[in-house]
Amino acid sequence: MATYGIDLGTTYSCVAYVDDTGRPVIAKNAIGQETTPSVVYFETSDNVVVGQDAKGSAKLFPDQVVQLIKRQMGQKFELEFHGAKHTPESISALILKELTRAAAEQTNEEVRDVVITVPAYFGVAEREATRNAGEIAGLNVLNLIPEPVAAALHYEKLSAEGTSTILVYDLGGGTFDTTVIRLDGDDVRVLCTDGDHRLGGADWDQRIADHLLESFLAENPESTAGESEDFLQELAIAAEDMKKGLSSATSRRYNMRFDGATARVEVTRETFESLTEDLLARTFEITQRTLDAAAAQGISAFDDVLLVGGSVRMPAVNEGLRKRFGFEPKLHDPDLAVAKGAARFALIEAVKVRLPGEADGAAAASGAAAEREIEQAADQLGLEPEKVRRLAGRRVTTVVPRAFGVKTVDVADDGAESFSVSHVLKANTALPAATEPERFATAYEEQTEINIEIWEQAGAAESEDLADNAKIGEGIITGLPRLRKGSPIDISFAMDELGTLRVYAVELQTNKDLHIEVSIQGLSETQVSQAKEAIARYAVSE
Ligand code: AMP
Repeated sequence: MATYGIDLGTTYSCVAYVDDTGRPVIAKNAIGQETTPSVVYFETSDNVVVGQDAKGSAKLFPDQVVQLIKRQMGQKFELEFHGAKHTPESISALILKELTRAAAEQTNEEVRDVVITVPAYFGVAEREATRNAGEIAGLNVLNLIPEPVAAALHYEKLSAEGTSTILVYDLGGGTFDTTVIRLDGDDVRVLCTDGDHRLGGADWDQRIADHLLESFLAENPESTAGESEDFLQELAIAAEDMKKGLSSATSRRYNMRFDGATARVEVTRETFESLTEDLLARTFEITQRTLDAAAAQGISAFDDVLLVGGSVRMPAVNEGLRKRFGFEPKLHDPDLAVAKGAARFALIEAVKVRLPGEADGAAAASGAAAEREIEQAADQLGLEPEKVRRLAGRRVTTVVPRAFGVKTVDVADDGAESFSVSHVLKANTALPAATEPERFATAYEEQTEINIEIWEQAGAAESEDLADNAKIGEGIITGLPRLRKGSPIDISFAMDELGTLRVYAVELQTNKDLHIEVSIQGLSETQVSQAKEAIARYAVSE
């Protein structure tokens, strides 16, 4: 059975698998396209349309069409269509269902084992939500892989052997990441990553749409066009078309009409670039931060700068990176690289599931038994045994995407409390990660309980302010004797390769301890299976 890589994008999604010759191939969608808009149209109470037609329906039925749902992943967010409640997970599951249905039609086999890509900068909650979306869609999610790592895996296939350090600049439809990756023989290692998952091509579209509306209203000041959902949807679609056009042409025209009033607008590439200058500058600030983080690890030169994501087709990206950083960026299969790399990773994971001993680097079962296992895996995956042996040795190492810590309180002499977050597990630590115990102290006299709150960095950079962090879990050590203020507590953090966070705290006087497995405030197992049943009743089509 083949394994599949799915690029579940903010604006477009894409599926790939590795064919018999070892090449990653895109599974085209029901209408023969390589990428599918990540748009869902709840047409009736039991019929859902995903993709191009859904995107086209946004204009007529804006209340029944969901776009950019990836931006809500990991958040408590509910939408209702035809009386049924939906979450970002269940809506993403509908996209996954259609993508895999179309892929199965093309490859003539059921799609079950998949790897789904996530922005490198996704936090724990967003990753968990993505995994749950896969489960709700009835898929077996072997693993998740950061998008830039997937892109690098695909690129590596085409590059020479040896060690190289690459910078991936990934500007998709709704997210932006920069990541430094080291490729070394069988090792693919993320060294550092940064990003903004609310910055992408859709923001560039919005600037044009705003500009079009302003131009229309300038010529028709009395018009109520700005209040018409239909008109605004029309502008949104036109804006994306215009933006794409401006990647090759230097000027585009558009005619608008509303309620008998008209306006004709010309947008030059120069105007477009000045309307969106600050957005591009934000990507460069994040790139600079990534370069600083890499420099702190002793890396100041890159063998290649890879541009990934549909939005890197905007000429300003390449020009800006050259001018500001002196890079010679390469555009490399920007729309498909992520899905193709994910397909290669899915194959590696599928081998590891079947040969767990080898994947851990432990001594593999000896002789004939090991051979049998390899042959069996090769048979199941339709690969040569030699290839299976090679894939089993591959290692893909990623890093903690954001800092994690505990909430601390400082109590002044007058009793005033000030709260902050003290980060224990730093961003960009290689996974699996385990920190040394860090010493904290009780804040009040006669505490008999210690409440431990786990917080995750939410802003772009590590900051102690509560406002720049999000609470993701908590636990409590109880039954303590009345402790003196300042009694020591040791706290350590560990995170496994799948992003599960474990916190261990111990009060040193009594040795009372606390293990917290941070279960993210996402869907419970029951909610996942309920959602799975709920979406099973929809007929989903392109
Ligand atoms: P991705 O999520 O990586 O598929 O990227 C999709 C984004 O790339 C969307 O915002 C598209 O509008 C944008 N995009 C695709 N083609 C072009 C192009 N030729 N010029 C500018 N943006 C593009």
